[in-house]
Amino acid sequence: MVRDRIVLSKRIVVKVGSSLLTNSESDANIQRIEKLAKVLSGLRSQGKEIVFVTSGAVAIGSKKIGYQKKPATSKEKQACAAVGQVELMNLYSQIFGIFDQKVAQILLTKDILDNSQRKQNLINTFETLLGLGIIPIVNENDSISFEEIENIARFGDNDNLASVVSALIQSDLLIILSDIDGYYEKNPRIHPEAKLIPTIQTISNEIYQNAQGAGSEVGTGGMYTKIQAAVFATSRGCDMIIANGENPQIVVDILDGKMVGTWFVADEKIKSKDK
Ligand code: ADP
Repeated sequence: MVRDRIVLSKRIVVKVGSSLLTNSESDANIQRIEKLAKVLSGLRSQGKEIVFVTSGAVAIGSKKIGYQKKPATSKEKQACAAVGQVELMNLYSQIFGIFDQKVAQILLTKDILDNSQRKQNLINTFETLLGLGIIPIVNENDSISFEEIENIARFGDNDNLASVVSALIQSDLLIILSDIDGYYEKNPRIHPEAKLIPTIQTISNEIYQNAQGAGSEVGTGGMYTKIQAAVFATSRGCDMIIANGENPQIVVDILDGKMVGTWFVADEKIKSKDK
């Protein structure tokens, strides 16, 4: 299926996973962040509206605090998030600054969705920032949102968070950059012969069944949460593409309509009604 519609996307949410933003030592991957900042700033200056959803705060905070291994308790993770978020934003502000691009921080908790006034405030903030040409950088507010029973009162993973943000601001496209080329018919880490699926129009049970957990230590949701995100986004009129972000230049390829990654096609009826 040709990707003419993708080329026309104006408002774009780009989510980047921890495995791309940090290295095996849990340090920020500066080279990759620089490339990403260059690409996103370039698109912004061409008139695209860009929102960047970031992970990585817990990993970076844990390193900064000096923990020898991944923190296990919620309290420790919250402390890591508090320390790591500052590090991360400081870095982003400096690196995007090289490209003359202003950024803003938006930290979200899931309960925002239950309060219509706060939800509207959030949308207003996004609209104002985007109108000013600023790139909002979004993360879950993990310093207050970890729960003993995980995933009850928190987004829990930034794939789902990114799809909620995309729907809230009526984004045209959600790009999820991961450490894998896209959605494969089966988990390619276990089935190396599995083929990449370039276009998915209907998310069947079979697709869910073949979307498994994270392949790396730092990855969180794996393909499963990305499929959940795809269901949410596409049913609200937002196209979604999963692609390999090892080289962030792929975002430009995606917006040139090249056949990279997996495109989850938005519900046409909702897309044409809203836009
Ligand atoms: P990120 O940190 O980018 O969110 P994750 O590690 O959480 O990355 O998710 C991507 C991983 O999901 C892949 O590296 C792979 O190990 C795993 N995975 C499971 N099932 C599939 C599938 N059907 N197609 C592609 N990847 C899959």
